[in-house]
Amino acid sequence: MLETKSEHVAPVMAAYGRFPITIEKGKGSYVWDSEGTKYLDFTAGIAVLALGHVPDAVEEALKKQLDTLWHCSNLYHIESQEKLAAMLTEHSCCDQVFFCNSGAEANEGAIKLARRYANLVLHKPEGHIVTFNHSFHGRTLATMTATAQEKIQSGFGPLVPGFKYLPYNTDSSVQAIKEDSECIGVMLEMVQGEGGVIPADKTWAQNLAAVCKEKGIPLIVDEVQTGIGRTGTLFAYEHYGIEPDILTVAKALGSGIPIGAFLAKKQISQLFTPGTHGSTFGGNPFSTAAGVATLEAFEKQDVLAKCTANANDLTMKLNEIKEKYPDQIKSVRGLGLLIGVETAAPAISIVNELRENYQVLILTAGKHVLRILPPLVTNESEIDAFIAAFTNVLIEHA
Ligand SMILES: *Cc1c(COP(=O)(O)O)cnc(C)c1O
Repeated sequence: MLETKSEHVAPVMAAYGRFPITIEKGKGSYVWDSEGTKYLDFTAGIAVLALGHVPDAVEEALKKQLDTLWHCSNLYHIESQEKLAAMLTEHSCCDQVFFCNSGAEANEGAIKLARRYANLVLHKPEGHIVTFNHSFHGRTLATMTATAQEKIQSGFGPLVPGFKYLPYNTDSSVQAIKEDSECIGVMLEMVQGEGGVIPADKTWAQNLAAVCKEKGIPLIVDEVQTGIGRTGTLFAYEHYGIEPDILTVAKALGSGIPIGAFLAKKQISQLFTPGTHGSTFGGNPFSTAAGVATLEAFEKQDVLAKCTANANDLTMKLNEIKEKYPDQIKSVRGLGLLIGVETAAPAISIVNELRENYQVLILTAGKHVLRILPPLVTNESEIDAFIAAFTNVLIEHA
């Protein structure tokens, strides 16, 4: 018998360690806490706010949507859903989209779709999907299993069968897949985000794509963090000259309104016939209106070009700091505005000092990696403000 209800715990489960501020308002690259303190936000809500906080274009579209329709279920046609699907397929190598509500749900759907293909086309119902060490694919049972990190899986067994792990950026992994007759798909991030901001090597990724093609198995690219412009192209796979067969997105697609999606080429996507998969809220009028407005703003405001220019500026200035403080900064890496800085000091101490002493917010990606994720539409003066604060923290550490 469980104890009677305790009156002494916080009503929200403590699954997150939280920084000791309450954020009340956001606009552009700034947030304000409940004391009225203003912070420069270079976390973008964990790579979500490509256009910054409460972007005018999306705000206007959502206010309109609030007055017309919030929800009607996928038993009816939804205009904004169809429009967003057309935009995503027009700008990617995939033919069809399924909408859901999060990154994990998108990856879960991608895994189901790959299994469907394995069952019905490859006739390998017992096969497995290969994922890579240090990957991150989500927190549901299957995506947690796909996530090859002990610290994510520990204490949640039994894991879901049907996954196998290989080393990232390692030639022997390509050979292992080639020789693996039960491999029914390969799933990877073009830049491992949570795993430490580690970009895939270009030749390795191309060899991996070639092996998938040769074997007739789907290449599944998880662009939940890299997708929707974060790396300077709409999708990170574009940098690599490869084409995924299944592609997942979420974080930045709705400018902060919860939405996810998986896309696929038609030979695969066609296997999802009526009744095979579902999601009550997936593709709902409100979230897809946010998606449409976000992608329209990308075009109108030339967001991809801005991202690339900002990424070049920020990366150059971080590399200057690295030259100046080689004992403190070990490397600067990433792609576009998904930037990792490897530090000698614990990353969390730098994050805390930036927040407390300079009102600047950034994230970590592991014990000694800072993760810097500005809105894609940041500008030179915000970048300079960040660089000045970061330099001061390093001087204080020296
Ligand atoms: C954030 C993330 C996920 C999980 O997305 P949720 O919306 O938190 O479920 C999956 N894959 C990658 C690469 C991510 O960065």
